[in-house]
Amino acid sequence: MNIAVVGTGYVGLVTGTCFAETGVHVVCVDIDKAKVQRMQNGEIPIYEPHLDGLFQRNIKQGRLTFTTSLEEGIKNAKVIFLALPTPPDGNGAADLKYILQVADQLGSCIKEYTVVVNKSTVPVGTAEKVRSAIAKNCKVEFDVVSNPEFLREGFAVDDFMKPDRVVIGSSSEKANKIMSELFSPFVRQGNPVYYMDERSAELTKYAANSFLAAKITFMNEIANLCERVGANVDMVRMGIGSDARIGKRFLFAGIGYGGSCFPKDVQALERTSSDYKYDFKMLKSVMLVNEKQKLLLVEKMKEHYGEAGLKGKKFALWGLSFKPDTDDIREAPALYIIDALLKEGATLSVYDPEAMKNVKQVIGEKVEYATEPYEALRGADALLIATEWSSFRTPDFEKMTSLLKSKVIFDGRNLYDPSQMEQLGFYYSSIGRRVVK
Ligand code: NAD
Repeated sequence: MNIAVVGTGYVGLVTGTCFAETGVHVVCVDIDKAKVQRMQNGEIPIYEPHLDGLFQRNIKQGRLTFTTSLEEGIKNAKVIFLALPTPPDGNGAADLKYILQVADQLGSCIKEYTVVVNKSTVPVGTAEKVRSAIAKNCKVEFDVVSNPEFLREGFAVDDFMKPDRVVIGSSSEKANKIMSELFSPFVRQGNPVYYMDERSAELTKYAANSFLAAKITFMNEIANLCERVGANVDMVRMGIGSDARIGKRFLFAGIGYGGSCFPKDVQALERTSSDYKYDFKMLKSVMLVNEKQKLLLVEKMKEHYGEAGLKGKKFALWGLSFKPDTDDIREAPALYIIDALLKEGATLSVYDPEAMKNVKQVIGEKVEYATEPYEALRGADALLIATEWSSFRTPDFEKMTSLLKSKVIFDGRNLYDPSQMEQLGFYYSSIGRRVVK
């Protein structure tokens, strides 16, 4: 089968590469000329574990190609996946301009029956809009399917290859049959494929992300309460997580969720709710709590330094990506922390294993970029931790002590054991646990 994937970001490139791995011929289309050129030269444009090997192999075997031309890219495609951005517009709703622009162009390019599959996260009713936009210029039969993507950055290849479930929103038997054939290599172990109407499929994605964002936020509130009542959030987490109805995952307290999905999807679902005159109070609270949580470390720092303030101090910051194992910095708490500390008059030396290039593109030379984690510590008044990369979990505390000006750590991801930090003589402030002084 020949397919096309329009948009080769975190979702599109993984989708295209994983389909190619099953023997399908995939053309990836992107408007970003530089990105397409890099991919044509065999260079992968994002950091995603295990993707590079598959990417290289499928290029070599001629099943994965790249183009900037939509017309050329979809020429022989039986199925066209749209994996385009849906960022928030000025009001927090998902901006559909990228999708509708492509849908507008698709009508005149499609020459025989084609299934257009929307993989982007889009509000209820988008499939109908895409269908109308294509129909304006299209002379042949086509179907529009909603197939939301649930992959996680950092685990994207595994999630795509072995999905917990595949959701297919369509009212066409013909399209469902083609989708079933295409996805069959990924569901051989019996993972469910749910066929449903387009609107339910569209809402499923928002419901999933909003539920997970609410789960994290609930735990962050419990952590904030733990600090006040003298409880330990790690204990509470284990105590509740062992209950199968709650589950162990997504219960780690920290400095809030970020990334390209949760913040915008929670916001977009709240917008949809208010468009339909429904006051979704819980989602509003999730957003409010998360905004505050992202700056919790800065609040803790202000309290610690008191009158002396943060002005003129130098801080080391470990972790910039919104979570480990990705170079994605969209809505990363670290960026909010950097902004707040620079405004307070502090200086920063930062380190991240993969995300420094992306941060540099956004904030330029406003901070120092260390080439390795310990270099960031030299002469710093404290170390701040914003992302739980594994390589930060077992540091050389002696080396840390020799480089830091003061033995002070503000840990937004609870990487270390407070008792160990006490023995080592650090001032150690984390989330939802006692402060070690
Ligand atoms: P991204 O920003 O990483 O990639 C989007 C790509 O589309 C870019 O390469 C961009 O150049 C390209 N593009 C923009 N306009 C185009 C056009 N007219 N023609 C061709 N290419 C064009 O986005 P992403 O993170 O892959 O997300 C895509 C969608 O998938 C979003 O709706 C997102 O919410 C959803 N999603 C993302 C994730 C995730 O973890 N990133 C997971 C599930 C769902």
